[in-house]
Amino acid sequence: MITILSGGTGTPKLLQGIKEIVDPKDLTIIVNTLENDYFSGVYVSADIDTVLYTMSDMINDELWYGVKDDTFITHERLEEMGCHELLRIGDIDRATKIQKTLLMEKYTLQESVDIQSKQMGIKSKIIPMSNENSDIKIITDIGELAFHDFLIKHQCEPEVLDVVFSKTAPADGLIESINDSDIVIIGPSNPITSILPILSLDGVRDALKNKYVVAVSPIIGNDSFSGPASKFMKALNIEVSSLGVAEFYKDFLDVIIIDEKDSELESSINKIINKVILTNTIMDSLDAKINLAGKILDINVEE
Ligand code: GDP
Repeated sequence: MITILSGGTGTPKLLQGIKEIVDPKDLTIIVNTLENDYFSGVYVSADIDTVLYTMSDMINDELWYGVKDDTFITHERLEEMGCHELLRIGDIDRATKIQKTLLMEKYTLQESVDIQSKQMGIKSKIIPMSNENSDIKIITDIGELAFHDFLIKHQCEPEVLDVVFSKTAPADGLIESINDSDIVIIGPSNPITSILPILSLDGVRDALKNKYVVAVSPIIGNDSFSGPASKFMKALNIEVSSLGVAEFYKDFLDVIIIDEKDSELESSINKIINKVILTNTIMDSLDAKINLAGKILDINVEE
């Protein structure tokens, strides 16, 4: 069994590669819920929906948000009616979100995601990290901002001084799924707002210490590949490099995969992590995703 810790962009790219070389039935994906909230009257769990769409081949993998070839009739009509939506939600994507909102009147988030996942024909187990909503604040030079306001309204531009979020309880079966795994993969997701929330759940760090854990660095050189990860790392005094990522995960990490362009970091990372693998970590094609998945799982993917 393989357990993967995921956010909503870097790790889903990797999932596209993993599911080509491993039976999806053998995968459990634990997904960040830090950013979940209500928008336009519906419950939005962006990272979970991205993972659902990725595993059912519906994802818009240019934006890593929403459904490919979706239409925006409802969104455009709302704008015409003077209702500005902070999130631009497509029609099919909105149907998923409405369904989840309705399901959650009766079921937990976890149960609702289970129902949706089965309906989408997904064989992997997708576990939202928590059934409780988090309270997250980005402390910036222009004041305290809600996560989506920082991300969308302010386009990640303010200087970040701190990132604070409330503690939540792990979802049912989350710790057991780690305990039952042969390998845990920490995907190349934002270490602060995607992976740290999962690591902060009671019992996760202890469970990881007893497991074979492989992480893929989301940093190449001194910047994140996309998104605000480097700003958040800086704010928490973590060096923005694969060495910084290694330091951040070192308590439980067995292997780190870093980009081949960062070969000069190998010896310093080796002092804190048993094994460092250098390879291409830029997942700009299905082949690149499969190759990276092969390196993590030690599966020969050459034809
Ligand atoms: P979010 O939930 O949308 O913030 O997405 P994630 O947390 O899953 O992923 C964001 C992180 O993915 C960023 O820090 C990027 O650096 C990383 N990322 C995105 N694409 C790639 C890629 O092709 N290779 C690597 N190594 N990292 C990537």
